[in-house]
Amino acid sequence: MQKTFSKPFTQQESIPEAGIERAIAVMRSGRLHRYNVVADEVAEAALLEQEYADWLGVQHCLACASGGYALHIALKAAGLQHGEPVLTNAFTLAPVPGAIHNAGGTVVLVEIDANYCVDLAHLEQMMQTSGSRFFMLSHMRGHLADMAAVVALCERYGVILIEDCAHTMGASWNGKKSGTFGQVACFSTQTYKHMNSGEGGLLTTDDPELMARAIMHSGSYMLYERNGTAPAAEVFADIKLDTPNYSGRMDNLRAAILRAQLPELVVNCRRWNARYVAAEQALQQIAGVVLPIRPAAETYVGSSIQFRTPELAQAQIQPFIAQCAARGVELKWFGGAQPQGFTSRYDSWRYLGAVPELPQTLAILAQTFDMRIPLTFEAADMVCIAEIIGEVLAGLRDD
Ligand SMILES: *Cc1c(COP(=O)(O)O)cnc(C)c1O
Repeated sequence: MQKTFSKPFTQQESIPEAGIERAIAVMRSGRLHRYNVVADEVAEAALLEQEYADWLGVQHCLACASGGYALHIALKAAGLQHGEPVLTNAFTLAPVPGAIHNAGGTVVLVEIDANYCVDLAHLEQMMQTSGSRFFMLSHMRGHLADMAAVVALCERYGVILIEDCAHTMGASWNGKKSGTFGQVACFSTQTYKHMNSGEGGLLTTDDPELMARAIMHSGSYMLYERNGTAPAAEVFADIKLDTPNYSGRMDNLRAAILRAQLPELVVNCRRWNARYVAAEQALQQIAGVVLPIRPAAETYVGSSIQFRTPELAQAQIQPFIAQCAARGVELKWFGGAQPQGFTSRYDSWRYLGAVPELPQTLAILAQTFDMRIPLTFEAADMVCIAEIIGEVLAGLRDD
């Protein structure tokens, strides 16, 4: 009998009971809009902002409609002008180039290295030649580049760093939390990220003026003082009349759900890592599987795992995916010519127009497989999955 795996890769854990109760209370009150409060009430959205800012150790947090929306207004609030170039690593998800496009920027892609991090040599070269004032660094699939080196490059070239922490909520570099390295950071609370409100985003910064602009962009109806971590009223004096409303607030229902998850985040990150390490150890046993090196300075959150199979011929890739899928193991491949599900590759963002080819990124992605690690899996499940992958690979090698 062939080993098979039967748990779904897309099943999340339920929302903590405390969050369900809080959400019901919000619905009973009828006050779902974040600025709809009575007397001295502080809205759930404002409380979430305070609690998340405290958790991250920053001055300001803004709860938004989505992570992609937070990236969009982060660029606007950081001063991006129409047509300006924005650097970003080429291995990321569609919301990142989409946010740059939405903010009126021009996407300038940077190569990645074999560990799925931005290629620092190419980054420096692009900083020298592109004239870009902005670098939107996407910590794609939770891989943190050498953040000390990234920050040093940004300082040397006068570049504003915007961190996309959609996959690094809870991660850190040398003990410093991801999201505290740049001028502004954005997190996603979309269902497949580290806290789940279906859709949602959090923008964080220590810069009061940037925060004031972000609050105005998100749509404050001049009720900005009700934000959980609003800068002093005088910071808004000019900003409030100069900053367009791009409505994209988070509502109290989603904030209530998230507030109940925040106290569990650290424990959940450990649970992800137990599963990641089990998968990593089992996959390491398989001949022909190459795993990324995770530097000692990186504290990651293993909510997904990537590996490469340099020995697999191009013609064997589809059979590999299909045979794994037939046995219940859902792998994504980033090398496909057509994007499938979440496997966007930069050349599938055709609206960018002609972009220079990135041979290194393409070569790495052509061999890269990606697998979600939901918390509904156990460490033993990861071993079972790795065994199936190993058996399928061995079978293809014998063909
Ligand atoms: C999920 C994600 C985002 C933001 O996505 P939203 O769905 O807009 O919240 C941004 N970057 C990456 C890498 C992501 O995976």
